[in-house]
Amino acid sequence: MKLYNTLSRKVEEFVPHEEGKVKFYTCGPTVYHYAHIGNIRNYIGHDILDKTLRYLGYEVTRCMNITDVGHLTSDSDSGEDKMLLASKRENKSAWDIAKFYTEAFFKDFDLVNCKRPEIVSPATDNIDKYIEIITNLIDKGYAYQSGGNVYFDISKLDDYYVLTNHREDEMVVGVREGVEEDNNKRNQADFALWFTTSKFENQEMVWDSPWGVGYPGWHIECTGISIKYLGEYLDIHGGGVDNIFPHHTNEIAQSEAYLGHKWCNYWFHNEHLMDESGKMSKSKGAVLSVSLLKEKGYDPIAFRFMCLGSHYRKQLVFSYDALEQATNTLNKLRNRINNISNDGELENDKFEAYNNKFIDALSEDLNTSNALTVLYDLLKDDSVNNKTKLELIISFDKVLSLDLIKEDEEIDNELVEYINSKIEERMEAKKNKDYSLADSIRDELSEKGIRLIDTKDGTKYEVIKN
Ligand SMILES: [Zn+2]
Repeated sequence: MKLYNTLSRKVEEFVPHEEGKVKFYTCGPTVYHYAHIGNIRNYIGHDILDKTLRYLGYEVTRCMNITDVGHLTSDSDSGEDKMLLASKRENKSAWDIAKFYTEAFFKDFDLVNCKRPEIVSPATDNIDKYIEIITNLIDKGYAYQSGGNVYFDISKLDDYYVLTNHREDEMVVGVREGVEEDNNKRNQADFALWFTTSKFENQEMVWDSPWGVGYPGWHIECTGISIKYLGEYLDIHGGGVDNIFPHHTNEIAQSEAYLGHKWCNYWFHNEHLMDESGKMSKSKGAVLSVSLLKEKGYDPIAFRFMCLGSHYRKQLVFSYDALEQATNTLNKLRNRINNISNDGELENDKFEAYNNKFIDALSEDLNTSNALTVLYDLLKDDSVNNKTKLELIISFDKVLSLDLIKEDEEIDNELVEYINSKIEERMEAKKNKDYSLADSIRDELSEKGIRLIDTKDGTKYEVIKN
């Protein structure tokens, strides 16, 4: 598997610390608003990497944080508290805002067939770990207290800009844009590890610490969560390109100062999704989310298909025309596949040949558009029989996740009988005004993925895909 590594600025052969196992960390969403489709493109890129590694036989453990601490509107230690702004806007507590938008995020995440990481941890669950790391950094002289806050001293490192190619000329601008002047800092690029002096009033999310009541800086959360759940040696750390500086730069600084050794070998960054006016942003009015696309009648998987048509390291411009085109192409592809009858015997040699081509495309720095070309080549190839084609498509879709094969809609008779008997039982309960029994029957079915729909012609049901 070859993967572009931001740390070396090269496509490299991927070699994990432990043979056959991958520790993979993804920077998760901030949950003060809906995730826009540009954010979701980033998670689709991570999903393809995750599934490709599994397809290649790696045992992957993936972890993602949820940034639910009241954070700051820019990536620097300044700006406004996003969670607090949202609380005011929506008249909810910060905790309710975080809960609401975490659920909204995963709804969209699931709609585009992204597989949830094994470990998902909200920032607010790991305060002890941040305090432990910060204490250690102060003890070692990497961090200092000033004006009530704790800062990381970047001058203590030889290689603070390791991830950004030492482009000091560019970094000067970056530092200026990313870091607001703060007289408590020794160096202007220093960053906060813990705040006790907040310029924001009414902070709801605060915790006790050796430095006073306050809350952690943004960057420490990913270091803390990653080390806590994935250990001291990380194989892949991913995020959007806008995370490279200052977020990932700061994560490396504090993690390696804390651990005393190199932390992560491969840094994976997904390019932006642009709209026609430029980079998508949550601050520009209504949020274009996957759910909104769905409400407008688009298939969320068509959005995923559109993303896979372009390389994750290239900027992609979103337009409704492009989405429309992706929808049509995907529908044609699905129709074509669903017209293939399942006949013949599996041809192992041909299966292997095409599967290798598919693996080769993905192993070349996740070339998803070439992987799709392999699929189209397969469909055109008259020398491969139907059975083999279908088996290959089922296999490819483990990574592509485009719902290429229609789910078998026939439900077995036993299940139908069971559902009908439960519906009858529930009707009976309702008749007897035993609503708690009626509800418990509904819940029982719902747990099995069966949703009841009461209509004026009686109760109908629908089997929901897991
Ligand atoms: Zn992060």
